[in-house]
Amino acid sequence: MDTQKNVKSLLKEKLGQDLLSILERISQVASRSELTVFAVGGFVRDLLLNIPNKDIDIVVEGNGILFASKLAEEFDGQVKTHEKFGTSVVIFPDGYRIDVAMARVEYYEYPAALPTVKQSSVNSDLSRRDFTINSLAIKLNGEGAFSLIDFFNSERDLKNKEIHVLHNLSFIDDPCRLFRAIKFEQRFSFKIGKQTGELMRDAIKKGLVTSLSGTRLLNEITLILKERDPLKHILRMKEFDLLKFLSPEIILDSADLEALGKIETVLSWAETISLTEKPEVWYVYLLAIIYSLDDESFMQMLEKLQMQARLKKSLTIDRRTCKKALELLGEDKNWEPEVIYHLFSDLSIEALIYFLAVDSTDRANQYANIYFTQYCGQAELSLTGDDLVEMGLKPGPIFQSVFNALREAHVKGAIETRDDEVCWVKKEFLEQ
Ligand code: ATP
Repeated sequence: MDTQKNVKSLLKEKLGQDLLSILERISQVASRSELTVFAVGGFVRDLLLNIPNKDIDIVVEGNGILFASKLAEEFDGQVKTHEKFGTSVVIFPDGYRIDVAMARVEYYEYPAALPTVKQSSVNSDLSRRDFTINSLAIKLNGEGAFSLIDFFNSERDLKNKEIHVLHNLSFIDDPCRLFRAIKFEQRFSFKIGKQTGELMRDAIKKGLVTSLSGTRLLNEITLILKERDPLKHILRMKEFDLLKFLSPEIILDSADLEALGKIETVLSWAETISLTEKPEVWYVYLLAIIYSLDDESFMQMLEKLQMQARLKKSLTIDRRTCKKALELLGEDKNWEPEVIYHLFSDLSIEALIYFLAVDSTDRANQYANIYFTQYCGQAELSLTGDDLVEMGLKPGPIFQSVFNALREAHVKGAIETRDDEVCWVKKEFLEQ
């Protein structure tokens, strides 16, 4: 892996001639500009792991912003720049993007602060990174072009399937890395190295995560939950006692774990029926993690994580509707079709998935099946908003009430045809 030829042929073999040609043109632009540039990070890691990854991150020794603008010229693309951090993104005409940054060192003025940035060499740039496996580079031009740069024995760690930090203060500099360690470990089925594991436990015991902003914490959690098989990531976070930083009240007892374990099955079932929307899987898992919190702890968590209003609102509603559905179906009654229709149509698709993971009784499943196979079809309406306007109704929130009431009447069996719908709207909404 240490010769120029090897990495170039590996690039061609794994990623194809098109991508290699792009890298070669980047290399030429760099040489013309008398700058030395490198492909770095996840792109190189995944190349060696034989995982397709076309997200090229470029590091430039020197003026990265200038280099990005030259790249944009070369590829007839556009460039967007973040002056403060010295980073740019080059957007190709077909939408393909390449990130460009100047090689930099970062100083943390206090633990978990955003770093202060200064221009440097690729060597120092790689030494500020989180794990050895993410600290590889490919030199793209100049002497030794297309050779692998491995200052930290990253190749060895990739071969041994181990996650190691570069230095002992890594988690103090940036506690986000605690979550990232778990993410990479679980994603690649690696193991966190012994010493790195000890540093993690120590950082967690010292409560370093509390110094992270809610936004950064939520961002890391969201990224983890967007990984394939989020459950194993959640279990590993639980093992490391990391979930307490969302809320100290998150316990994940055996009932929570049982429900979490069933989400995958419910998701597979959901794929077999034709849902109108695809569930956001990461959100179902987030709902599952925070579901058992009491209202006060839940509110405190929302504040702490500085969630956007939309996410706050949907989590609050989904928790409420899910609890209501559980309570209702917990009663030993045979519910009328319209009650069941209401209950399920009030749930967002994600809340529905979680509800069926919590309540996996035959009864809940039967009601869910009948809702999707029968009631949803029955509740399809002939009348549109335009029809309502033509009938003399003024557009506004009332339309939603009319449509809901019409759907309920269909499910009840009170109406069937378009004419029935017209008569019914007249009677219920116009003749008063
Ligand atoms: P993914 O496949 O998840 O995109 P990635 O390694 O490309 O993996 P990014 O989060 O896009 O991950 O980060 C790009 C690179 O920046 C990483 O490979 C790593 O070298 C560096 N990096 C990202 N976050 C941190 C961090 N918190 N501390 C240090 N280095 C980081």
